[in-house]
Amino acid sequence: MDQSDVTPIAPAKQTPLMQQYWTIKSAHLDKVLLFRMGDFFEMFHDDAEVAAPILGIALTSRNKKALDETRMCGVPHHSIGPQINKLLAAGFKVAICDQIEDPKFAKGLVKRAVTRVLSPGVVFDPDMLDAQTANYLASFDHATVSFLDASTGEAFFYQATGAAARDGILASLQPVEVVLAERDVDDFRNLDLLPGATLTGFEAFAPTGAAAGALAGIPEAVLRAPLSARRLFAYARQLQGDGVARQVLGFERRELSDRLHLGPTVLRHLEIFETYRGESKGSLFAAVNRCKTSAGSRALRQWLQFPLAESGAIERRLDEVERWHREPTRLLELRRAFAGMGDVARRLGKLANPSCNPRDLLSLADALEAGREVSALSAARQWDAELLEGASALARDLRETLIESPPVQTGNGGLIRRGVDGTLDELADVSENASRLVLELELRERQATGIGSLKVRFNGVFGYYLEVSNAHKDKVPPDRYERKQTLVNAERYLTKELEALESKVLSAVGRRNDLESALFESLKARGLAMSGRLLLLGRGWAELDAASSLATCALERGYVRPSFSTDGGLRLRKSRHPVVEQAMALPFVANDVVIEAGGTLLLTGPNMAGKSTIMRQIAATALLAQAGSFVPAERAELPMFDRIFTRIGASDFLAEGLSTFMVEMTETAAMLKHAGPRSLVILDEVGRGTSTFDGMSLAQAILEHLLTQSRAMTLFATHYHELTRLADAFPGLKNAHMAIHESPRAGGDIAFLHQLVAGPANKSYGIHVAKLAGLPPSVTKRAADILRRAESGALAFDGPQMSFS
Ligand code: ATP
Repeated sequence: MDQSDVTPIAPAKQTPLMQQYWTIKSAHLDKVLLFRMGDFFEMFHDDAEVAAPILGIALTSRNKKALDETRMCGVPHHSIGPQINKLLAAGFKVAICDQIEDPKFAKGLVKRAVTRVLSPGVVFDPDMLDAQTANYLASFDHATVSFLDASTGEAFFYQATGAAARDGILASLQPVEVVLAERDVDDFRNLDLLPGATLTGFEAFAPTGAAAGALAGIPEAVLRAPLSARRLFAYARQLQGDGVARQVLGFERRELSDRLHLGPTVLRHLEIFETYRGESKGSLFAAVNRCKTSAGSRALRQWLQFPLAESGAIERRLDEVERWHREPTRLLELRRAFAGMGDVARRLGKLANPSCNPRDLLSLADALEAGREVSALSAARQWDAELLEGASALARDLRETLIESPPVQTGNGGLIRRGVDGTLDELADVSENASRLVLELELRERQATGIGSLKVRFNGVFGYYLEVSNAHKDKVPPDRYERKQTLVNAERYLTKELEALESKVLSAVGRRNDLESALFESLKARGLAMSGRLLLLGRGWAELDAASSLATCALERGYVRPSFSTDGGLRLRKSRHPVVEQAMALPFVANDVVIEAGGTLLLTGPNMAGKSTIMRQIAATALLAQAGSFVPAERAELPMFDRIFTRIGASDFLAEGLSTFMVEMTETAAMLKHAGPRSLVILDEVGRGTSTFDGMSLAQAILEHLLTQSRAMTLFATHYHELTRLADAFPGLKNAHMAIHESPRAGGDIAFLHQLVAGPANKSYGIHVAKLAGLPPSVTKRAADILRRAESGALAFDGPQMSFS
């Protein structure tokens, strides 16, 4: 979202404050400016109008009815984090303008400056992001697409030549923000594939030589990364600071060639991450995810999004799942250890974020300690012993330096343990003993003067002072007491001793706070120095969590390890749908499915019989198997697919201006173009959006193409009974249907058995289903009548039943 159209129309006579506001705002026209005034961050003019409804706060006015009436709204400074995240989630960028001097000491207007700029990809506090999804910044150039998650430090790129490949990757990974060179921004402003992403123009600082990079503190591996990656790095560094250079050691090159290609349409059709209603409950991911950590959930998400297509890698994952599947007791132990881990990647990411606080460091210690336990339980994964040792040492340091429950703020001290630093201990003694020292002085002065009511007090103007009521002021020793202020009933004095005490206490408090902050910073720097390598360790833990989650799901639901056929055939015994079986109260009917290499299963039969379910079930089983998961069946042998194509159900593309039939044909066209002998193709009711003969002819032609040209393994559900005759011409095509039980009574009720049986459905049950759905009996009876006559060939069209008499 861009606000650059906002023009600062400055009223003729502005207050100095508003002049200051406009000077700062004019450098940040594309952002919502949060302007600190006392305890509030205020937003003015168009910023206020945009932000008020998003934040759910009232829009008010400053200088009502005056010439320079100003619309405004504000939020208290202490609750700014969640509010900023709301603005970022709505696609806005935010500039935080702070007071950069203490208002107490300001001469005239308090100095203000923008201290942080935030965007959807570089947020204020990563803890407020959705834990199960990555928060990607993306960028691309002519040959690559790069991603960087600044909340975790994950950074990678794909080689992608051509707009289609690039758009496919972007649509799959759904970045929140796309960063492009300024000159390219307009060309991509309406990139349909990224409806929710913010587009940002940024000129990359891209030095080429290693020397230039070293000068600028850029890791060498980042310098070798493609332009799109370097642009992301420079952008994150500008917004978040130099910590990014510690966190991102380089951009990993990822390949799509050894992956099962799914594409965004297939992910949607198969409801992998969310259902048609946009809910994550009811998705395949939700059905199999048992991860104990958010980083594990994110890893599992990636496994389902980019399943493998190379047997060595799949078998390695399956081996790990099986190891845990065989040892349920140990698995439980492992999962208990994971439960205490939290989100390692985001904890490490937090180190590079200015909002990092002492509690974040302790959470990191929790994570590293749990990681040590987890690693000890999983020796089969060859952990880097030295790195593990380094992680434990860091955790120990964090524990031994910080107190058990430190405050969130670092500026006010009270976070470092006693014994860490001798000077700090002394300073702490003085500042913590201040009240005792003051009481002792008060007592001494009472005794010396004989004034029982004498008190030592403190205020912001004088600091410490002695207060004596008028009744006793004559007893004050004039040589030692210097009068500072006269009140109605009392006099206030200073003494040399009191001033000395005050400077000792105040300077101790100040020095203590500074020293504690410095110790905190150096602790953070130690973590940051290791964070790139710790991130790799964290990734290993996340993958282990994902694998053990799959083992847990397999044990809970009785899944089996799949194997991959050498002849390209698919054989499933007692296969179930992983999501539907969990959602149903009634028992799910398991089915045997056999399809030869390149074969087609033509499914006929009524609505509600279970055709869509079994087709999705086979696709979900293939996807799970290639993600390295066990599958819901008693035995499963599948081919290794390279792509899955789907054309399922009615999609809600109408809003995007395309008719459903047009969408159907567009998807089918892409499918016919790209499907090959290693593909799995799922077509549900193709050709229904047009007239019967058109639709049927198209369906037959598509089927023939798939059988003879693509030679893909195909599941084809149709209402066009006529197509079942193709089995005679094409031996690769097998008819099947979902069994129905029909009451022997003429026109009696039907029951769905959900059992896959060979051969075509012997008749259509549309009228039965209509009856079940509650159509009036007069209508269904009349329909049955018309059908009978039509089938007997008695009439092509039964005239209207109307009577005008
Ligand atoms: P339509 O053409 O209307 O989409 P369909 O033949 O594709 O119908 P499905 O949507 O697959 O039918 O299934 C309908 C319902 O039947 C499912 O929601 C599910 O509740 C139930 N069902 C499907 N398969 C099974 C099964 N194997 N065991 C038990 N219930 C099942």
